[in-house]
Amino acid sequence: MRIVLLGAPGAGKGTQAKKLIEKFGIPQISTGDLLRAAVAEGTELGKEAKSYMDKGELVPDSVVLGMVEERLGRDDCKDGYILDGFPRNTAQAEALDEMLDKMGMPLDAALNVDVPTEDLMKRLTGRRTCEQCGQMYNVYFNPPAEEGKCDKCGGTLFQRDDDKEETITKRLEVYREQTEPLIDYYRQKGILKTVTGTGAIDEIFTRVVETLGAA
Ligand code: AMP
Repeated sequence: MRIVLLGAPGAGKGTQAKKLIEKFGIPQISTGDLLRAAVAEGTELGKEAKSYMDKGELVPDSVVLGMVEERLGRDDCKDGYILDGFPRNTAQAEALDEMLDKMGMPLDAALNVDVPTEDLMKRLTGRRTCEQCGQMYNVYFNPPAEEGKCDKCGGTLFQRDDDKEETITKRLEVYREQTEPLIDYYRQKGILKTVTGTGAIDEIFTRVVETLGAA
């Protein structure tokens, strides 16, 4: 299964991707995660990326494309992959098509996780991540048993720098302007699938699997 996950920030792409990994045993390639890892390591690429990420803007295509190409070339992508948070604009989508054609592993589907705008803000401002195991919570919809502490491993929960309110507004604006047009891009290619991303995580996942099964 070779898929791209589309959807606004906060639509739950990352959460669904993690469940798809468990079920199908294929890797998730999240450009956001790759960039955050580079920032944490303090690499040159990370330093460049951070200034854009903190403002809620897109990191330049040249940075992201190189990273994705390297990752897709690894052995574990041979049986499929889930691209999460990439592509983010038409130029990236076109570059991806070219890259995948060359590699002989074109996309099967682009899955759009559709969530009403009014829900996105709460999802993003409420989001917390465990610094040890990466488990995600939401203080409004899916809080941990003990505030600030991971249920799974006891690690400390943190809020991403770019989940602060000012940055979120910018990220949603960037999404509308640059990423949303990709829904039409993939519709025209005949591989767009859409699921409603509201309700319980497991319910959404059932819909995701059914929708992809029809792919
Ligand atoms: P995410 O975790 O996918 O919401 O990404 C967090 C931030 O990383 C975004 O707001 C961008 O600044 C940057 N980023 C992630 N993926 C991309 C991409 N494909 N192209 C450009 N910037 C990206």
